[in-house]
Order: sequence, then C-alpha cells, then structure tokens
Amino acid sequence: MFKKILIANRGEIALRVQRACREMGIKAVMVYSEADRDAKYVRLADEAVCIGPAASGLSYLSMPAIISAAEVTDAEAIHPGYGFLSENADFAERVEKSGFVFIGPTPESIRLMGDKVSAKQAMIRAGVPTVPGSEGALPDDPAFIKRTAKTIGYPVIIKAAGGGGGRGMRVVHTEAALLHAVQTTKAEAAAAFNNAAVYMEKFLQNPRHIEIQVLADQHRNAVYLHERDCSMQRRHQKVIEEAPAPGIPRRLIEKIGERCAAACKKMGYRGAGTFEFLYENGEFYFIEMNTRVQVEHPVTEWITGIDIVATQIAVAAGEKLPFSQRQVQLRGHAIECRINAEDPYKFTPSPGRITTWHAPGGPGVRVDSHAYTNYMVPPNYDSMIGKIIVHGDTREQALARMRTALAETVIEGIKTNIPLHRELMVDANFEAGGTNIHYLEQWLEQRDR
Ligand code: ADP
Repeated sequence: MFKKILIANRGEIALRVQRACREMGIKAVMVYSEADRDAKYVRLADEAVCIGPAASGLSYLSMPAIISAAEVTDAEAIHPGYGFLSENADFAERVEKSGFVFIGPTPESIRLMGDKVSAKQAMIRAGVPTVPGSEGALPDDPAFIKRTAKTIGYPVIIKAAGGGGGRGMRVVHTEAALLHAVQTTKAEAAAAFNNAAVYMEKFLQNPRHIEIQVLADQHRNAVYLHERDCSMQRRHQKVIEEAPAPGIPRRLIEKIGERCAAACKKMGYRGAGTFEFLYENGEFYFIEMNTRVQVEHPVTEWITGIDIVATQIAVAAGEKLPFSQRQVQLRGHAIECRINAEDPYKFTPSPGRITTWHAPGGPGVRVDSHAYTNYMVPPNYDSMIGKIIVHGDTREQALARMRTALAETVIEGIKTNIPLHRELMVDANFEAGGTNIHYLEQWLEQRDR
C-alpha cells in the first residue's frame, strides 16, 4: 500500500480523500491555493503545499505546480478528486510519466470516455444501449444534418463531443431551427472545450437520470454497485441524488449493471467510474461515462457498505477488488442533498464568511463538508459547500431523517439552498418517487409564479 498520497483538489472531496487516507494509515499531502490557505483540512493535513493564487487556472489546474508538489513531498500517488484535472487524460499521463501513480483509470480510458462521440461508439461495441443518434460527429454538410435529424425524429439534441458540466447542449424542435443550432453549438464548443465536434441525439421527452457505479481493479475484475437516481436537476446539474432508484425493477438494474461491468472488463478499465443513462419506458440509454469519483458517491457507499474512495486507492496500488459481485448486497435507502452557497430563489452565488455552522447528526445522518463556523467561502470556485446524506431502512425513513437533518441545520452569514431542500422533501411528487429530469425546473417555475 502507498505510504503517502497527494490530494490534488479542494473542499469537501479533498477532506473526504484525506479521511480515507487516515483510515488506511496513509499520509496525505494537501495542495492549496492562496484562497484556501486557512481551510481546516489544510491545517489538519500531514503536509500542505501552496500551489498558487486563487484562480484555479494558476493553482488547481496547474499540472506543473501539482507535480512539483508531489516531487518535493515524496508522494507516491495522486488522487484527483472530481472536477479540476480529474478527467484530464494529459494530466494522468504526465503524473505517470513523472513516476507517480494516478489514482484513476489509464490515460487511454480517460481519453476514450472524455470524448462523448468515441465513448458512445465504445459502448455500442460493448453492447451497452445508447440514445439513438448520429453515428459520429456531424459533418458540415447541411443536407446530411437535416437527413440525420429526420431519421432520428424531432425533437433532437445537439451535444458537444467535449462537453461537460451540463454545458454545450441545445434542443431543436423543428428543421427550421436545426442548422443554426448546430452552428451555434459548434462555435460554443470550440470556445469552451477547444473541440468543435458536435453530435446529434434523439431528445428524450421525460426520462429519468439513472447511473450505474462501477469499480474495477487491474486484474480484470469489475463489479457494479447498482444505481443512483439523479433526476432532480437544475440546468443539467444534480441537486438531490438517491439510491436505489424508486420503482425500477431490480432485474433491469442487474441486467444493465452486468453490461457495464462487462464493458469495463472489455476496455481494461480500472478504478471507480459511473455509466450515466437516461431511463424512459423501461429502457436505458447511455449518455456518458465519468471516469472518476462522483459527488454523489456516498449514497452508494451507504446502501452497499463499500468505501468507494478507499477502494479507488487500493486498486490503484495494485490490489484486487476485495469483494465479488455476489457479495455486493443492498441495504435500505440513501438520499443526498447538495448544499450550495447560493440564493435559494435566484440561485446567485453567495460566498462569504459563515458566522454559524451547525451540522445535523443522529442515526443515519452523514455530513461531508469542509465548512465550519468562521469558514470563509471563497468566491473563486464551485458553490457547493457540502452534502447531507441520510440512510434509512426504507425510503420513507430516509426522507423523514432528511427532513429532521435539514431542520437541525443552521448556516448563517451566507445564503444556502437549505430552504429549497426543505420544501422539496415535503413535495408530494418527490415523496412519491420517480420524478423525471424536468421535474425540478418545472417545480421552480411554478414556485416563482
Ligand atoms: P454533461 O457531461 O454536461 O453532464 P450529459 O450528456 O451527461 O452532459 O447530459 C447532462 C444532462 O442533459 C442529462 O442528465 C439530461 O438531463 C440532459 N440530456 C442529455 N442528453 C439528453 C437527451 N438525449 N435527451 C434528453 N435529455 C438529455
């Protein structure tokens, strides 16, 4: 096992990985920007290295700064967390060329999955069902584009091959709007992702977002840890996640889960990963794969009892998966609410000093957050300041525990989306379970009226 790992991230996920290291007897090196200098998890680290100013381009995204921090501290491996450089194949490659272990898949796997067009083609080869659409990137030929849309059937969605974070997508309802939409998405994709390639998919009207968590080792073992339902989204960004997904027959999950595990073996995938699907009328349609740990991993940890971050580290060190598919057993129900420093009505970011931080507790409550009383939320990064995760024997019990946890939570000094979560936890449709990906936005529209 490693003796020392460098954690190339910040905030709650940096703390989450630090905790896994502690438990495994591994020393953790934290890197931080000037904006995160006073963060408690930085102070608590075995070692900490400042890698640059607040702007992430000069710190958390600076490959040379991170690699030299690993060199000066004699770390053996680098955990990238999520976001920042976690899905950057060039970074993974540079880490390995510099003699460190990248805690994640090979650069080849990251590259293959990082381009949504090649990812989709790989899935088709591996027998994973995908959304009907263009066979590859769209050519410039207007007649071809129109023909493709007609064959797929309107509405269609134009998506950037290099897109991520819910950006670089455009829905088209009519042929009249098609070519302009393709051009605009291309221009945006070139500017935002440095890759102008776009592709076309059938726009599914009322799907749910269901994803399958996988874990694979370097000995061709791969298992699936069942599903998460992440349909509660705003602007394609997840707000609430849960596991298992309400109302989906277990045999359907097992069938798609087996396909995902088989695809991992076929690709020589290693580490943690997530296959994201849209689910409509009993069918799964692959949309993309995330080649890293995800924000919502705790709900899966809770229903399976498997520590995903510790397993990532163990398989990166060359160990075999310590459990087989048959040993993956589900227990109860888990729900996660993402806590954002933002206005709960207008969604404008609300950075600043937290004057009171009172976290909830009690049976079945887990809080993953780096925040505390007097913590200064910097304006430079993502607005998520933590996650409240609950577990219950049943979904009803989990919901009741989340309501209690949200009622106990006191965060003062900044605005948060806690009031939004409180309302959603008593919404009759959410309580019933199985809402689709448009539900939250429609709910918000009605609320604002
Ligand atoms: P990103 O990498 O930006 O997260 P995804 O491909 O995962 O992009 O899509 C994000 C979200 O966009 C999905 O969860 C879903 O809400 C919506 N979406 C993407 N593709 C489709 C589609 N073909 N039909 C309907 N909605 C879609």
